[in-house]
Amino acid sequence: MSEALLPISVVGRFAPSPTGPLHFGSLVAAVASYLEACAGQWLLRVEDVDRPRSVSGMAGLQQEILHAYGFVWDREVVLQSEREHLYQKALKTLIEAGYAYPCTCTRSQLAGHTDARVGIDGARIYPGTCSHWQPGDAVPENAAWRFRVGGLDVPEWSFTDRIQGVVSQQLARDVGDFVLHRADGCTTYQLAVVVDDLAQGVTQVVRGADLLDSTPRQLALISALGGQVPSYAHLPVAVNNAGEKLSKQTMAQALPLGMESERVVALWSALDFLGQEPPASLYKLSQAKLWIWAKTHWSISKVAKARRCFLPSKAQ
Ligand SMILES: [Zn+2]
Repeated sequence: MSEALLPISVVGRFAPSPTGPLHFGSLVAAVASYLEACAGQWLLRVEDVDRPRSVSGMAGLQQEILHAYGFVWDREVVLQSEREHLYQKALKTLIEAGYAYPCTCTRSQLAGHTDARVGIDGARIYPGTCSHWQPGDAVPENAAWRFRVGGLDVPEWSFTDRIQGVVSQQLARDVGDFVLHRADGCTTYQLAVVVDDLAQGVTQVVRGADLLDSTPRQLALISALGGQVPSYAHLPVAVNNAGEKLSKQTMAQALPLGMESERVVALWSALDFLGQEPPASLYKLSQAKLWIWAKTHWSISKVAKARRCFLPSKAQ
């Protein structure tokens, strides 16, 4: 067989933020990304790029929980807080290519643009005040860096999500020039996730549909950095009875760590939420046997095409 015919190996990942304990919503994303990457590698990444929101010791606790639930990850765990040099390098590439410019607008200046359109995130679209800057111009101090969405001359970004179908977005109309690096020195999620996925050779992204609207921004960044686009599958996000996404803020229950029988119920519920129709008899099995069933029966085509789904009451 010639080298060109060899299949490209699968690299998936799970990338929780260490802002609180893992909950049912986290488990759903972990299970789906893990099973989908079964034939290849599954990486674990700590998304602590937003340092002020990260809770000390939480990443270690999350790994302990994942380990107890039977997840096995490949390679060393990567921490975004230790990768600022990679983000800076990518930012430099974008600046030199004319895709990024410094922005010194203050919050109150931005809030003053009351006539600016509201974008897909519910925030006002940046009016482009600082976009006249060109590479070679003086760099103002304490500036944020924004991505010039018109720089690539792609009016509409489209991709086919493996669960949600075709997604299209006009970045200039729906998002505007978004921030890559904040004035306080933090790299934003959008840049960090793209740099990490490219650096780690991630071939498939399986994550919650709350990030679906971010994907066109990430496609533009991948294109500007000259990288390979992974496949995307956005899972329905588990919401509570009030329709709120599970999180620390909505008092989502932490995953039980203790008894194996409790973990089996949680894993069964995650498989059920993901449309895999696990038989009730699996409740009585060991965690190891539940995983064997899950790996044998997993099919991403069974996952509901919805951005949000209510979670089973016992997992609330
Ligand atoms: Zn500005």
